[in-house]
Amino acid sequence: MKKLLFILSLFVALSCNNEVKLQQPVKETKQEIAIDPFLYPLIKEFVREAVERGKGLEITRLDSIGLKTIHVLPDSEMMGNLGYYSKEKGEIALNDFLYNDWLMLRTVLFHELFHALGIEHCDELGVHIMCAVKPRNFTYAYYLDPEVWEPLLDREFNKL
Ligand SMILES: [Zn+2]
Repeated sequence: MKKLLFILSLFVALSCNNEVKLQQPVKETKQEIAIDPFLYPLIKEFVREAVERGKGLEITRLDSIGLKTIHVLPDSEMMGNLGYYSKEKGEIALNDFLYNDWLMLRTVLFHELFHALGIEHCDELGVHIMCAVKPRNFTYAYYLDPEVWEPLLDREFNKL
């Protein structure tokens, strides 16, 4: 019984301790980055791919590369663009048209995230993630195959 009381009092003490901690103001060390919740799983995937390649990128640290917003805008506001990255605004915007195709959405989001990390377009026409112009017979379904997709990710992450 004594032992139980001791454990109980310890529990109470610990709970009180937690309460005290919770009452302390949370220190604001960095600015929150606003991410459209629908994009969160894909951004987590991007971060995981980065970490797997030894790049210590965390979602919470995307603001350290100057990003403040990653969001989706209606087609009417995107003026024909699938996506863009604005360094000045710290913004990635994606065309809501992309919600029709998960592979396109992933590719364009990753493309813009690579821009935010400082990677430029590839000069030539090609299937690479950073090629703005794709070959005529290109389909995003090509990226469904991990044997295709993984080396394409390697190519861009290796530039970081
Ligand atoms: Zn681009």
